[in-house]
Amino acid sequence: MDKLNKKYHIWTAGCQMNVADSRRLGSSLEHLGYNFTDNVKEADVLVLNTCVVRQSAEDKALGFLHSIRPLKEQNPNLVINLMGCLVGVKGAEKLQKKLPFVDVFSPPSDPGPLIAHLTQDDDYINETNVTRNRFAIMDGEIIIPEHERGKLVSAFIPVVYGCSHACTYCIIPYQRGIERSRPVGEIVAEARSLAAQGVKEITLLGQIVDRYGKDVADGPNLAELLHLLNDVAGIERIRFLTSHPNYFGVDIMRAVAELPKVMPHFEVPIQAGDNEVLENMKRGYTQEDYRKLIAQIRDEVPGCSIATDIIVGFPGETEEQFEQTYQLLADLKMDVAHLARYSPRKGTVSERRMADDVTDAEKRRRFHRLEALQKEIATEINARYLGETVPVLFEEKVKGRWRGRTPTNKLVFVESDDNLRGKVVDVRITWTGPWSMQAQMLQQKPTPLVLA
Ligand code: SAH
Repeated sequence: MDKLNKKYHIWTAGCQMNVADSRRLGSSLEHLGYNFTDNVKEADVLVLNTCVVRQSAEDKALGFLHSIRPLKEQNPNLVINLMGCLVGVKGAEKLQKKLPFVDVFSPPSDPGPLIAHLTQDDDYINETNVTRNRFAIMDGEIIIPEHERGKLVSAFIPVVYGCSHACTYCIIPYQRGIERSRPVGEIVAEARSLAAQGVKEITLLGQIVDRYGKDVADGPNLAELLHLLNDVAGIERIRFLTSHPNYFGVDIMRAVAELPKVMPHFEVPIQAGDNEVLENMKRGYTQEDYRKLIAQIRDEVPGCSIATDIIVGFPGETEEQFEQTYQLLADLKMDVAHLARYSPRKGTVSERRMADDVTDAEKRRRFHRLEALQKEIATEINARYLGETVPVLFEEKVKGRWRGRTPTNKLVFVESDDNLRGKVVDVRITWTGPWSMQAQMLQQKPTPLVLA
């Protein structure tokens, strides 16, 4: 592809899905001849891939958007593309009026509108209800953007777009649209093309990844998909997230236990430990169900690690109800807890029907209590790795230390002059903390003395 002598920059916020979407968009832009720049001021095309899951994320996106406005005033030819959950699937009419300096609005996961704008593709522009991007998804092949090529060890593959659940607090289904599983052929083709470009680890993404295939009549389910991907040559590790407790079947647990490449790590959010709060959230399970599920996972996949998500300060959450969450976390001892303070999102059921009645100070207090508890739990769990030898997949060197992950997704740092990028190496853990570990390369076997 001839180069255009034009540059693009993509600012990405939010979840792993956005990271995947941005890479796909970068790939499409390079296909058109654009070059990546990490300098916003140098860009001819500037993309903001946004998140609105909490108010803080929305504020960040709007803050960045307004900070780049002067660039457009200086350079009217600059193309600004607002993408992702701030735009949503319903389109951009309201936003267009508010943000006249934005040239293109794109729903999540869709490079189409920008590519159409840059190529002036009238057919595309006139087409309505475009749900599939004709320019970059094609048959699943993806070309890794140049600045990451040869360096990218771990990549995300979206397998389910959108979400059709109706958790009362959550804006994602409104912004990302209904659940759509990607065709299995496309996913396998994407995994193969990533492997051919040096990627060693893939992480399958879906808002409810364990619902993969349940929206189509005759496709494979997640366990079957894991079996297929386990056979892709060059891919050494496979992960998936996020799982919803209600769809997490024993077939998935067994696939993880049986398949050598599928890593023993799960992301299964509880969100709250009190049954009334869970009911108000419309999560569809009780804390007892969740406890049973975690016990079953640990039984089927011994030595696995499990992460959870928790929201504190949901409307009406009393001190006693919060204590249920605290107790549940203390009992179950999860490896990781992603914590969030409840943030009312416009248009969601909880925002329309329930008062945001837990004060900000109280939300912070609850957050910090869980954070302190989780720090103790993670310290205790990670300490068990001390002195153990574990296979770590190394991704990059940061400030002189190689950074990688254990099969259980623990972050490990190692000092080494060797090039460890993309390699799975057995290392010995020499220090552990709540959020990371340090390790040493195993002593190289001394070369045997050859006696003459
Ligand atoms: N689909 C996934 C991830 C959703 S977003 C799931 O079902 O878990 C990631 C996390 O953000 C959620 O797990 C939840 O803990 C948090 N979250 C979502 N909406 C929120 C809101 N309105 N306020 C605070 N946290 C929220």
